[in-house]
Amino acid sequence: MSSGNFKLIRGCSGYKGMKRETIVIIGGGFAGMNLAKRLDSNRYEVKLIDRNNFHSFPPLFYQIASSGLDASNISFPFRREFKKKRNVTYHMGHVKNIDVEKHEVTTSYETIKYDRLVISAGTTNNFFGMSGLSENVFCIKTVAEAAHTRDEILDRLERGALQPDVKRRRELLSFLVVGGGPSGVEIAGALGEMKRDILPREYPELDPDDVSITLVEGNDRLLAAMSEKSSSKALDYLHNLMVDVRLNTTMKGYSDKIVTYGDGHSEYRETLIWTAGVCGEPMPGLPQEVIGRGGRLKVDEYNRLIGYEESIYALGDIALMQTEEYPNGHPQVAQPAIQQAINLAGNLNAGEFKTKFVYNDKGSMATVGKNKAVVDLAKVSFGGSLAWWAWMFIHLISLIGMRNKLNVMLNWIWNYCTYSTSLRLLLRPTKYPLRRHWGD
Ligand SMILES: Cc1cc2nc3c(=O)[nH]c(=O)nc-3n(C[C@H](O)[C@H](O)[C@H](O)COP(=O)(O)OP(=O)(O)OC[C@H]3O[C@@H](n4cnc5c(N)ncnc54)[C@H](O)[C@@H]3O)c2cc1C
Repeated sequence: MSSGNFKLIRGCSGYKGMKRETIVIIGGGFAGMNLAKRLDSNRYEVKLIDRNNFHSFPPLFYQIASSGLDASNISFPFRREFKKKRNVTYHMGHVKNIDVEKHEVTTSYETIKYDRLVISAGTTNNFFGMSGLSENVFCIKTVAEAAHTRDEILDRLERGALQPDVKRRRELLSFLVVGGGPSGVEIAGALGEMKRDILPREYPELDPDDVSITLVEGNDRLLAAMSEKSSSKALDYLHNLMVDVRLNTTMKGYSDKIVTYGDGHSEYRETLIWTAGVCGEPMPGLPQEVIGRGGRLKVDEYNRLIGYEESIYALGDIALMQTEEYPNGHPQVAQPAIQQAINLAGNLNAGEFKTKFVYNDKGSMATVGKNKAVVDLAKVSFGGSLAWWAWMFIHLISLIGMRNKLNVMLNWIWNYCTYSTSLRLLLRPTKYPLRRHWGD
């Protein structure tokens, strides 16, 4: 067990005779990472817990799933990021329990004491209680899920190429994306590009008509959080990529590869990619009263957990800060997470909570494919090539690490010119040590 008691500082210049508090941060995503980087090393010893030993970039997960990028291109090891920040240590582990009385966090490997705790564990997939989904659908919520989804897609293309029976081949190559938000639109668009541009080049055995890509959305438009203009542009782009988009369509169940819709109609879909909902990552041990809408944690306008204002904070996707302007909390996207982290770091470093969080909405964007993206800024919306280049630029500059930026840029230029990537590798789990094979 690590001690969370106040400690003497030993900085580069030796002891400074001041006591440092231990801040434990759960989750090194956009919020946790930005906070850890900014906390004053003279005041705080920071212990960052994350189940992965790297920070990653969710906006590009769909490109891992569609073989456009490799996982390492958009991930960055915590130990390297904090090499020069001596007050931050990384602790691998999945959080199992938080003891708010004893000020302890227990992970899969250890129990850590804290003086202050920051919860920035983001969200997880929400299947809305539909049975069988967690066992049968594929997701792109983490790097590992996106890579697994990529393997499934490649597996079906290879098996389809070997299948002489047209009906069975078409079944194997039927993909359903559930959810018409940015992630659903982006993965459906990437699959559409694969069908239109990659198949004729690399799978001569397959007729592109053998592949069906369907996107279903319960709402009457795609990208509901964006402008109507962007929604209708995204719809046009997907039609252009031969994606069958069904609006006002809900899914009720999925079992034995048969999907059932709200109107009772059902059909075979071999691969179902779920992007339709998220809820706050469960944090066992927290009292029920602090958990609000969507499993998010209720915080005040300083990101302090309601009832635990002195010692616990929540940031980013998992935080539910209800204000007049955002009665259901802030949008679960990167900017609020980053901005809340910066605001909390400022308050903690100042030693007092003077600055309330105010969200500065810089706009939103989504991409559907090459030269097809949509951008909404405060007063203007635009699409097409300009939006696509803007999307690429913003995502490139947001990535951590020069090597990652260069790798991603090179991959994109290469793909733009040739449609060819060496990333369509189907990596199956190893046989040894013996474990059940996911394809069995
Ligand atoms: C596929 C996809 C596409 C997206 N596209 C966009 C986009 O284009 N633009 C945009 O602005 N936003 C996008 N988002 C949303 C954006 O990624 C999130 O809003 C943002 O990541 C939230 O930051 P966070 O720090 O709150 O959580 P996260 O970035 O999710 O970080 C949470 C961290 O906590 C760790 N963790 C979680 N649970 C535990 C646990 N129990 N124990 C230990 N560690 C844990 C995770 O490993 C992770 O590192 C997308 C999200 C996804 C999934």
